[in-house]
Amino acid sequence: MVKQDDNLMKEIVALCKRRGLIYPGSEIYGGLANTWDYGPYGVLLKNNVKQAWWKEMVMKRSDIVGLDSGILMNPKVWEASGHVTSFTDPMVDCTKCHNRFKEDSVDQAIVINGKPGCPAGGEHELTPARQFNLMFQTHIGPVTDEESTAYLRPETAQGIFVNFKNVLDSTRVKLPFGIAQIGKAFRNEITPGNFTFRTLEFEQFELEYFVYPETADKFFADWADERLRWYVDLGLDSAKVHLKAHDKKDLAHYARAVTDIEYKFPFGWSELEGIANRGDYDLAQHAESSGENLDYTDDEGKKVKPYVIEPSGGVDRAVLAFLVDAYREEEVKPSFAKATEGPDEKRIVLRLDPRLAPIKAAVFPLVRKEPVMGKAKEIYENLKGKWFVEYDESGTVGKRYRRQDEIGTPYCITVDFEGLESEPQTVTIRDRDTMEQKRIVIDQVGEWLAGKIN
Ligand code: ATP
Repeated sequence: MVKQDDNLMKEIVALCKRRGLIYPGSEIYGGLANTWDYGPYGVLLKNNVKQAWWKEMVMKRSDIVGLDSGILMNPKVWEASGHVTSFTDPMVDCTKCHNRFKEDSVDQAIVINGKPGCPAGGEHELTPARQFNLMFQTHIGPVTDEESTAYLRPETAQGIFVNFKNVLDSTRVKLPFGIAQIGKAFRNEITPGNFTFRTLEFEQFELEYFVYPETADKFFADWADERLRWYVDLGLDSAKVHLKAHDKKDLAHYARAVTDIEYKFPFGWSELEGIANRGDYDLAQHAESSGENLDYTDDEGKKVKPYVIEPSGGVDRAVLAFLVDAYREEEVKPSFAKATEGPDEKRIVLRLDPRLAPIKAAVFPLVRKEPVMGKAKEIYENLKGKWFVEYDESGTVGKRYRRQDEIGTPYCITVDFEGLESEPQTVTIRDRDTMEQKRIVIDQVGEWLAGKIN
C-alpha cells in the first residue's frame, strides 16, 4: 500500500531522523532553518546516488570527462555569467506580519485553517516587489569591503565553463563532448522548505555537453530522454516522473529551450532536474569578459563556437525522490510472516533499488550462542570489504528485520543451528520485498549477493 495522505512527508522526515538517514541541521542549538545533515545511512544513500550518476555520465562514456572545480571563484566569473545582476527572485514584505515572501508564492506561504492568510489577521499587506540576489556573499582576506567580496557558488556549471579551454588543451576531447561535475552549491532561498527539496546548501550534478550548433536540438531532446531514463532505471515509478517543457515565452534570455524532469512529490509535481539548450551564451560571455579565445578548432582548422546542452540536477532532490518513491507502509499478513518475524503485522519498508540501498546485506545469528554467532561474524567479515554490510545480534530476529526494512536493506542473512548442521553448511537469505526466505550454501553467499547487487 502506498500511503498518499498529507502526513506522508511528516512520516518520511520522522523515519529519516529515527533511522539515521537525515537529521535537522545544528539541532542541539535549536536548528538552522532549511539546513539538513545526512546521517550514517543517509550519507551512504547519497554517495550511491552520486556514484550511479558518475558511473552513467562519466565512467561509461568515452565522450565525457569529469571535473571538480572550486566553490570560491574570481567574482568576475559571476559578473560575466550574469549572476551578480540577474540571479534574483522578486521579493515582497508584509507590513503587518513582517514576513518576507517570494512574490509568486505568497499564497502558498502561510496557510491558516486551510486558507492563505496573514498571521496578523486578514490578508497580507504587501510592499512592491524588490529583486533579491540569491548568492551568498563572503569576503576574502582581513578587510570586509566591496573589493574583497566573493561568492559561494550558486551552481557548479560556471566552474565547467571557465575550465573549457583547460580541458581542451590538456585532454583529447573532440566535439561533441561533455564535462561533468558533482559539488556543493549555495543559494539564499527566500522560501525554502519541503524537507531537503529546497535548502540553502545542496549538491548538484551537472553536465555541460558541448556540440556543433546545428546538432543542438537533437542533443537537447536526446539528453532529456536519457536523463529521464536514468531516474526510472534506478527505481522511480515511471508514472510519477515526467518531462515538462517550458513555454518559449518563459525562457531566460540565454536559454533556447528548457525541459524539466519533474517528480510527483507528496507536495505536488516539482523539478528534479532541468535540461537546457544554452546556445553559446556562457562561452561567449566568458570569452568576452576574460579576453580568452574559447572557440573550438575542428580537424580542418575551422573555428566553431559550440552550443551547450546542460542537464542540471540536484543530488538532494534525487535522494528525496528515491526515498519518497521507495517508502511503503505494509500490512504483513500473519500467514505471510514467518515464525521468526514475530507477531508484528505492520512494517515500514524502503523498497530502494539495491544499487542505492545504504546497506546491502545484514548478517544475523538466529541465537546468541556459539557456533552460530562465530559463523555469522565470519560471514560478515568476509562481505564487509566488498559492500556496506552490518552484523546485528540484538533483539528478536523480527525486530532486526524491521530495522533493516526501514533503511532499505535488500537482504538479511541468518545463521542458525539447522544450517550449520547440514552438509554443506547453509544460511537463510530473506528478501526485503517478498519477505521470503531461502537457504543458500554458505560458501556461495558472496557470489549470490554480487549477482543481486551489482
Ligand atoms: P527551482 O525552480 O526549484 O528553484 P531552479 O530551476 O532554480 O530550481 P536550477 O538553477 O536549474 O534550479 O538548478 C538545477 C538543479 O539544482 C535543480 O533542478 C534542483 O534539483 C537543484 N536545486 C536548485 N536549487 C536548489 C535548492 N535550493 N535546494 C536543493 N536543490 C536545489
